[in-house]
Amino acid sequence: MSNLPSEPEFEQAYHELASTLENSTLFEKHPEYRKALKIASIPERIIQFRVVWEDDKGQVQVNRGYRVQFNSALGPYKGGLRLHPTVNLSILKFLGFEQIFKNALTGLNMGGGKGGSDFDPKGKSDNEIRRFCCAFMSELGKHIGANLDVPAGDIGVSGREIGFLFGQYKKQTKLWEGVLTGKGGTWGGSLIRPEATGYGLVYYVGHMIDYATGGKESFAGKRVAISGSGNVAQYAALKVLELGGIVLSLSDSKGAIIATTDKGIDAELVAKIAQLKVDRKQLAELASTSEFSGKAKYLDGKRPWLHVGAVDIALPGATQNEVSGEEAEGLIKAGCKYIAEGSNMGSTQEAIEVFENHRKTNKEKAIWYAPGKAANAGGVAVSGLEMAQNSSRIKWTSEEVDSKLKDIMKNCFESGLQTALTYVTPAEGEFPSLVAGSNIAGFSKVAAAM
Ligand code: GLU
Repeated sequence: MSNLPSEPEFEQAYHELASTLENSTLFEKHPEYRKALKIASIPERIIQFRVVWEDDKGQVQVNRGYRVQFNSALGPYKGGLRLHPTVNLSILKFLGFEQIFKNALTGLNMGGGKGGSDFDPKGKSDNEIRRFCCAFMSELGKHIGANLDVPAGDIGVSGREIGFLFGQYKKQTKLWEGVLTGKGGTWGGSLIRPEATGYGLVYYVGHMIDYATGGKESFAGKRVAISGSGNVAQYAALKVLELGGIVLSLSDSKGAIIATTDKGIDAELVAKIAQLKVDRKQLAELASTSEFSGKAKYLDGKRPWLHVGAVDIALPGATQNEVSGEEAEGLIKAGCKYIAEGSNMGSTQEAIEVFENHRKTNKEKAIWYAPGKAANAGGVAVSGLEMAQNSSRIKWTSEEVDSKLKDIMKNCFESGLQTALTYVTPAEGEFPSLVAGSNIAGFSKVAAAM
């Protein structure tokens, strides 16, 4: 699987996938897929490079740059770029590995990849970000292309960074091509791309609720804990509000905002948080002003899960391993029935085991867990739709994109569910495992193509 001394995040992602395949009838039915898994666990290619850029004081700075081109069986490598000081090869390999199967679940022709740098955008000026992005693309640009590898955003990369990267690629290659997704609306971007991951997550959970309650319940009146405050969390929160749910929390790496009234966090507060993010500031800065207007409190150094009180739905939307086993237990005790990841590998393996054991053993069907590779596939799905629009030189309306996104999320849910029913027969009265079903559905597609 790996011959490097320590790749904890990649090993975690690999074992999570492999164990669900092993515990199903997949390898009995398709013995040749065992070899496919072994082959698929090694990236087709990894590009590593240095990024030298100049800060505002005229000082030379250096960072590490990477692109993991993991699997191209289903199409060009596709996946985001993460800019965060914690970025290393283990994290990018885990993200690239997840991306292969997530992209397969969208039903679109996209392979899997991921890249980024240990550059920290926090506290940097726009000009420093621009100089870093141009330096990063001056090397990455040699290895990507509209039919080869199409990067997009991830943590630390939004429309502004995509703009700097796209401009540099165009300058150095003289090509206008859809080589990055998440572009601005006037220069090749798809409508609904910024919203897609958060909206898609909520559409997916809508199907979970519908299935679990036989169509009797919806988001209306549901109490929803959300972590994170970036693109994913913001648009998930807005869609929850639109559907009549109550948003209990948001968070960043330094602390959590918890609603203090029955109305929860409203759209006005979400808009203030969105502006704070554009300014690359922390939530603590809102807490130190009167911006909460009696609607919420700030908990320094905390994640939301054990502080939201009674909760129906949890949507981790920040980063990997942001729900521990203990927090998973706490959520269940607080009444949580559905958990779906907006982040990639948001739950630790211990938390997944808590959720999955509870799904199997609890007669009241207390909790149902959906992994990120299914529940957050809406982002990369609309990236795929952006590629399609660029290739055919057309632009779809918001309604057209949103309706395709809804169809894709319905298929993601249905294929995970049906595949679980086919390969891991649930016990009487038990929900099918969406983790196993999604892993098997995504993997089978890639293995067959390989
Ligand atoms: N970073 C996002 C993800 O984890 C989106 C990738 C893309 O749009 O290519 O799926």
